[in-house]
Amino acid sequence: MNCIFCDIIERKAPAEIIFEDDKVLAFLDIKPIHYGHILVVPKKHYSDLLEIPGDALCSIIKTAKMVTGALVKSLKPDGYNLFSNNGKAAGQSVFHFHMHITPRYFKDEIHFKLKLKDYKNTEMQNIASLIKNEISNYI
Ligand code: AMP
Ligand code: ZN
Repeated sequence: MNCIFCDIIERKAPAEIIFEDDKVLAFLDIKPIHYGHILVVPKKHYSDLLEIPGDALCSIIKTAKMVTGALVKSLKPDGYNLFSNNGKAAGQSVFHFHMHITPRYFKDEIHFKLKLKDYKNTEMQNIASLIKNEISNYI
């Protein structure tokens, strides 16, 4: 399997590493939204959120919080975004699960182009029912 993040973890590819422990690696995104944009990845290969076990995900989130603290203290952005693209349709380009953390600045002119919808009649309840019916499979 060809995976650039596995290569970085195994030191077969270069990266500017910020933090690592036995489960997690955090390094700078090579094409940052803003300078200091960080990626946090599990050391084991999981393709997306649904593949990654809960304890590994906890390690990712804890590390994300930790490196965000260091990012905010050092670079002093006005804010920051944490996000994860899952699936090609959602913009995922590297299929090794990762969290993005990017600094944000007032007037940085970055906007998500959203086309927000309105629910009609019972659509909201119907959608909630569909999701709720599956919840027990994921607890
Ligand atoms: P996504 O599109 O959400 O899957 O994010 C993948 C991210 O990985 C992108 O923001 C890329 O810029 C970043 N990326 C790809 N290759 C490398 C690399 N060799 N070192 C650091 N970041 C990378
Ligand atoms: Zn991988």
